[in-house]
Amino acid sequence: MNPMSTLLNHTTAGYKIDQGNGKRLNHLLYMDDLKLYGETPSKLNYLIETVQVFSMDIRMSFGFDKCATVNIKRGKIEDRQQVICNIKQLAPKDTYRYLGLAQNSTIDHTTIKREIREKYNTRLMKLLNTKLSGYNLIKAINAWAIPVLTYSFGVVKWSNTDLEDLDRLTRRQLTKFRNLHTNSSVCRLYVPRRMGGRGLLNIKDLCLKQENGMRQRFMSSSCAIMRLIVAQDKGYTPLNLSCRNRIDKPISIEERVAGWKNGALHGRYPKSLQSEGVDLHSSLAWLKDGKLFPETEGFMMAIQDGVMRTRNYEKNILKQDVVDVCRKCSMRGETIEHITSGCSTLADNAYLGRHNQLAKIIHQQLAIKSELLSKTSPPYYKYSPQPVLESRDTVLYWDRPIITDRTVDHNRPDILFIDKINKTGVIIDIAVPLSRRIKQTETDKITKYENLSYDLKNVWNLKTVKILPFVISVEGIISTEFQKNLKEINLPCSIAKVGQRAVLLQTCHIVRKFLN
Ligand SMILES: [Zn+2]
Repeated sequence: MNPMSTLLNHTTAGYKIDQGNGKRLNHLLYMDDLKLYGETPSKLNYLIETVQVFSMDIRMSFGFDKCATVNIKRGKIEDRQQVICNIKQLAPKDTYRYLGLAQNSTIDHTTIKREIREKYNTRLMKLLNTKLSGYNLIKAINAWAIPVLTYSFGVVKWSNTDLEDLDRLTRRQLTKFRNLHTNSSVCRLYVPRRMGGRGLLNIKDLCLKQENGMRQRFMSSSCAIMRLIVAQDKGYTPLNLSCRNRIDKPISIEERVAGWKNGALHGRYPKSLQSEGVDLHSSLAWLKDGKLFPETEGFMMAIQDGVMRTRNYEKNILKQDVVDVCRKCSMRGETIEHITSGCSTLADNAYLGRHNQLAKIIHQQLAIKSELLSKTSPPYYKYSPQPVLESRDTVLYWDRPIITDRTVDHNRPDILFIDKINKTGVIIDIAVPLSRRIKQTETDKITKYENLSYDLKNVWNLKTVKILPFVISVEGIISTEFQKNLKEINLPCSIAKVGQRAVLLQTCHIVRKFLN
């Protein structure tokens, strides 16, 4: 294919690699990086001249100053060498960078690995010192730091221990920068974000995959040279092609997900994601959208992994001699569930504040949609809803007792929206329960406002009054009803993402404040 390669192949210089058909190998070529092999100085000189003539023909300059020669006799580098074309000669300890890797008669794997490791760590540190979001940080590590390593896979000999050390180094640095909790699930770190993980590439898996792919390519080739290489590679390269029974396989995504789910503590959140009625796509939007800071992302994952240092964790997991009662309300069982949703001292302010943030998002969007508010309304966290907003066509109530003829037990939903033209009403109630209580909370909300809905319909002479619960769990899990209910009030599905982010930030804030 390549004219220069064809020219070189037609010379009689080079090493016989196949005694049978006399096939010779006298060069390796990749783009403009060329290695020539001559069995004697004069043969090498002849090959150089061939390349020189060809380069002149195509008007390309052949820079001898960038070249180097090495004279190897019986596997040893000769000190006294014959100078060819005034090209610099390599002494036994000199190296020449061919395709980015320093080499002489062989590759010094130990030195190259050290250099690559240092370069990888430098890039990793540079990224960790940026203000990238959680999603972008992991993406940047995968796309900018890890390729420093992948380039050498299949060429440089990385042992499984070397590779595991590199993965450990990455995790250690993430932890040092407070982006990964020490006891968070390691499996989850390498699970794709669309499946609830963090989407970091596993270095050992990448190497095994790349080596296996390359091995496959060599093994399946019918090309004579490739077949010879396969027969001759007795551990000279990391592929060790002559050895047929290599079995190191990368860990599949399914195995990682299973490892994550099977953890006694770590497995609770992924199991909640699989529960009936969970909108998996919306529930994982925070990971795919990835706007949270890496520290917040890591903190939220530690909450979901159940590894926050609560008194319950200290007593039951760390086996410490502590009394497992809540440090705020003295109730038995200071679990992460108690802190995020069950502590009586937090109910009136912290939990209510979180609930109200989600409620405000929906109220504000509904008001803008119905032209009760202008589009330039402040962001949701600065927004304070008016108890009543009314126009000719619609009325919107915020947290107000609704007067009907008879007294109903529950007459104060978070939001009530009346469409005067179409004579319809919507009772909206918000909740931020524990992940395992989403379905029950939705059912409870509907039951709670059934009487009010019935009364409203009759007294206010409405055609329909729907009850729409909007529920996001403390860990950001969203039920399938959420999107359906958004459609009922003609709000875009992106509201779920905004609401989820608000809830997650509030939960992190509550836990941080509690444990500090
Ligand atoms: Zn408590």
